[in-house]
Amino acid sequence: MADTATPFGSQTSLREANRARILDMVKKFGAITQVELADATRLSPGTVSVIVKELLEAGIVNTAPTSRSGRRAVQVTLARRLGLVAGIHIGRRDLKLALANPSGEILVRQHLPLAKEHRADTGLDRVSLLISDMLDHIGATHEELLGAGVALDAPVDSHTGMVCSPGLMRGWDQVPIAESLTKRVGCPVVVDNGVNLGALAECRLGAGVGANPVVYLSTSYGIGAGIVLDDVVFRGFSGTAGEIGHVSIDPDGPICYCGNRGCLEVVAGASAMLEALRLTHGNLSLPDLIEQALAGDVASRRVIEDAARNIGVALAALCNIIDPQRIVVGGELARVGDLFLAPLRSVTSRFTLPSSTPTIEIVPSALGQDCELVGAVCHALDSVTLPGNLEGVVFHDVS
Ligand SMILES: [Zn+2]
Repeated sequence: MADTATPFGSQTSLREANRARILDMVKKFGAITQVELADATRLSPGTVSVIVKELLEAGIVNTAPTSRSGRRAVQVTLARRLGLVAGIHIGRRDLKLALANPSGEILVRQHLPLAKEHRADTGLDRVSLLISDMLDHIGATHEELLGAGVALDAPVDSHTGMVCSPGLMRGWDQVPIAESLTKRVGCPVVVDNGVNLGALAECRLGAGVGANPVVYLSTSYGIGAGIVLDDVVFRGFSGTAGEIGHVSIDPDGPICYCGNRGCLEVVAGASAMLEALRLTHGNLSLPDLIEQALAGDVASRRVIEDAARNIGVALAALCNIIDPQRIVVGGELARVGDLFLAPLRSVTSRFTLPSSTPTIEIVPSALGQDCELVGAVCHALDSVTLPGNLEGVVFHDVS
């Protein structure tokens, strides 16, 4: 196989360019075999083998035996000594944190509930303390922390890093989240909408792998969608692309907290489902509703099916605009499986253009409740410059 990189220039610059391509792929996929690296970089297996050996000797990657389709293979990951990143998912009711190595492997994690209308200052103080605890737990220091990614359950302006739709997470409005957290943890911080990062995670490591475009639909207390085109999150001009929860599906419906009327979220979100059951079932939480539906409670199953149908109407509109190859469904409601997915598929295909209907795949999330957290780790890794720029690293030519 002919190597395709850098047809001009010296042998040294060709080798450097090929090292950079291999490192980019290891960084992108986290853990990848040498055979997969050859495919992804279009370099010959021999070249990949030589460069991986150099990177191993320089302490930049680790290798380990593994298998692919029953065959022995060599898995390549980035070495922990390159540094760590933190992933943080700040939800409406809970907080998840993780520290990961440069290959995106989670080394330690924390999960705790948050008050209903939690505030940014106390939330960020807690994040800072928990990151220190987790660093201690794995014997690492703040100096090893290269960056942090924050997934927030609200639209985020990608230019300012602030919530760009006031009212969705009131305690976080007008807060420069990245700047405030950087001051607390001492490393660069990037912030994005959790559903965007969920889409990124599913696309890189989950049920969206190999598809393009991918839509990730999250249905929990809120309803949102993230769009990934050509491996890049599509955020729109102001950061609100994919806000399917605030598509009005009933112009005469109730007022939404965003200020509009009849938004999908007020018609089919958790609050609407729980309200529909209040007279007969009392004050349920969303997990209660899901448990009852899984246990066969007829009314609980009905409100979930009705929600799926309403969501399907809005999802079909999104499909007609984006024309996705695959829709990955995550969030709390995805836990009920086909009870939610079957009516969602049915209504989405009913209202989607016939030409695209047979090809759209609607599949459950592979990463489940960790989707946004894993996405925050991916976002952090994408944003940091690993020592993989190879400056100052001495290579011994092993070819
Ligand atoms: Zn709304």
